[in-house]
Amino acid sequence: MKPSAFAYHRPGTVDEAVATLAGVGDDGKVLAGGQSLVPMLNMRLAAPAHLVDVNRVDGLDEVRVVDDGAGASVRVGAAARHTDVEHDAEVAAVLPLLRQALEHVAHPTIRNRGTTVGSLVHADPAAELNAVLALLGGSVTLRSTTGSRVVNASELVTGPMQTCLRPDELATEAAFPVPQGHTGTAWTEVSRRAGDYAVCGVGVLVTVDDELRVRSARAAYVSMGPVPEVLDLTEPVAGIAAGGARPDEWAAAGRLATARLEPDDDIHATAAYRGHLAGVLTARAARAAAERAVARAG
Ligand code: FAD
Repeated sequence: MKPSAFAYHRPGTVDEAVATLAGVGDDGKVLAGGQSLVPMLNMRLAAPAHLVDVNRVDGLDEVRVVDDGAGASVRVGAAARHTDVEHDAEVAAVLPLLRQALEHVAHPTIRNRGTTVGSLVHADPAAELNAVLALLGGSVTLRSTTGSRVVNASELVTGPMQTCLRPDELATEAAFPVPQGHTGTAWTEVSRRAGDYAVCGVGVLVTVDDELRVRSARAAYVSMGPVPEVLDLTEPVAGIAAGGARPDEWAAAGRLATARLEPDDDIHATAAYRGHLAGVLTARAARAAAERAVARAG
C-alpha cells in the first residue's frame, strides 16, 4: 500500500519545527528516521495530513557526554541515529549499556536510519532504549512554541505506543545519566530471529562496593508489560562476592524477577514462557554485569 496524501515540511531550525507543529495541530506527525512511521503510513495505520521532517534541523544530530556538576550524562539529539550512539567511543567508555542494548535493536541498516529519540517517543513496549532510559532514570526534553519541559522516563511512557507528548511538542534530546560508583551493566534478550523485537529482554545494572561485594542490582525489562518494567533485585544478592558468585546465587535474582513480573500471553509467547525467560536472562545478565563491575573497579 501507499500512504494517503500529506503535506511535507522540512524546517531548518527547532523554532521553525515547533512553529510548524503548532500550526498543524492534531493533523501533524514528526518524521525522524521513518523506520516505524513510514511502514505505519504505508499500511495506513497512520494518516497525518502533515509530516514535519526533522532530519535537517540544525544542531539535533549531536551525541555528547556532558558533566554539568550534577553528574555526567550522555545527551542524544533528536536526529542522531542509533548507529551514531552505538559507535561513539566516548559513550561506550562511560556508558557501555547503550551499546550493549543497541546491538539488539533491529538490524544495522535500520540502526543507520532510526533515531534513538524517535525510538523513545514511539514507546514500543519491546523497545530496548525505553528500558535503558528507565533503568538509568533518564529524561527527554520536549520543546513547543510555549517553551520547553524535561520529562523523566517514568512519566514519558503512559502505555503501549503512548506517551505524554502533546501533538505540538518536539522531543529534542534524551539524557541518559551515567551511574555513579563501581558499576557494571549487561543486556541480554531472546528473539525468534536475530534483529526481531525481543520476546523478553533485560538490562541489568550492578553496583559493587570497595570490597567488590554487590551493593545493589536493578533490572529493566522489555516485552514484559505495556511499559518498561524496572525491578530492584538487590535483596537476594546483596553482599555476595561480585566476581566469584556461584550461578545459584545469581539465580535467586532471577527467581525474584519471575515472581514480580506479570507478562501477558500474545501470539509470540505465553506469559509462563516469558516469566521463565525473565528468570534465566536476569541471572545471566546480572552475573555478567557484576563481573564487569569488578573489572571496572580494578
Ligand atoms: P520514526 O519512524 O520517524 O517515528 C516514530 C514515531 O515517533 C512517529 O510517531 C513520529 O512522529 C514520532 N517521533 C519521532 N521522532 C520524534 C521527535 N523528535 N519528537 C516527537 N515525535 C517524534 N526498535 C527497537 O527498539 N527494537 C527492535 O528490536 C526493533 N526492531 C525493528 C525491526 C524492524 C524490521 C524495523 C523496521 C524497526 C525496528 N525497530 C526496533 C524500530 C526502530 O528502532 C526505529 O528506529 C524506532 O522505533 C523509531 O525511530 P525512527 O527515528 O525511525 O522514528
